Amino acid sequence: MRSPEQTPIRVRRPLQRNVTTYATIEAMNTHTHPEGVFVIDTHLMGHAHVVATYALTGDEPALVDPGPASTLPNLEAGLAKHGLGLGDIRHIVVTHIHLDHAGATGPILARNPEIQVHVHEKGAPHLIDPSRLVNSATMLWGDITETLWGQTCPVPTEAIITLVGGETLRIGGRVLRAYDAPGHAKHHLIWFDETSGGVFVGDNTGVRLPGMAHTRPATPPPDVDIEGWLRTLDLIGSLAPQWLMPTHFGAFSDVSFHLADFRERLLHWTALVRDGLKSGASEEEQIAALERQAQSEVDYLSEAELAALTLQSGEIFLSYRGLTRYWQKKGLD
Ligand SMILES: [Zn+2]
Repeated sequence: MRSPEQTPIRVRRPLQRNVTTYATIEAMNTHTHPEGVFVIDTHLMGHAHVVATYALTGDEPALVDPGPASTLPNLEAGLAKHGLGLGDIRHIVVTHIHLDHAGATGPILARNPEIQVHVHEKGAPHLIDPSRLVNSATMLWGDITETLWGQTCPVPTEAIITLVGGETLRIGGRVLRAYDAPGHAKHHLIWFDETSGGVFVGDNTGVRLPGMAHTRPATPPPDVDIEGWLRTLDLIGSLAPQWLMPTHFGAFSDVSFHLADFRERLLHWTALVRDGLKSGASEEEQIAALERQAQSEVDYLSEAELAALTLQSGEIFLSYRGLTRYWQKKGLD
């Protein structure tokens, strides 16, 4: 495992409003993807471009982040387009165990118990017993939890292979390297795919619609760790990948731009929340300030695109709460 030097938090120049329209960039987007990797749109709540599952083809077909339980039929339909069914899948590779990424794992294993599940050792207990995960999701989303994420179920212990980062996984002819990657969650791995030169980054490089001109942070409670996150971003850069493959959404080849843009916005949001907490403003006012910032970054998107982006990142108050929790642990001074 690499352990890059700690990077101090600093905020650079104010963000420039990006004037390139989504439609323009969408027209330019060729929807290319890395070799042997297919992007399956799970169509969460009927929206395109919210949660991607990556299907790795070859001798031992694999899924990276199968998505939530609620969209399993859509995942199957996406696999069928590539001539695959759940019975063909040999591995599930998990970036982290949040329900939008790995909620379908239990239901898939109930259909195909032969699958091996590769997951961070800190996340594995929550796949084996998802009750805490479901409880905290219910606290965040209330009545719509099941509509959003469906009904997950336990993953059999014997199916699980735990990792801590530093391992190399050989799947068919493909080599995947796992790295411990705190930031968005403490049980987060990133996976470097030597075959395609891409990195499955989960939520550690933010969210972004295909063709969108910038990134958005997703910083929900409880594990946000900005220092760890900056080290993870350094690590991703040091791998010199040709592709970033965030779960939300799709493969991006403008790696340097994406990483730099995300780092800057993450630091900006983090500082904004710190300043709000120090100001003595009410929580309502602080959330409104972060919402204004988020809105100012995306005011060129259509309503449908905004709806998809909000599903990708979660509501802004969730990101506010995650950053607040970070500052409470760290201290404001
Ligand atoms: Zn996510």
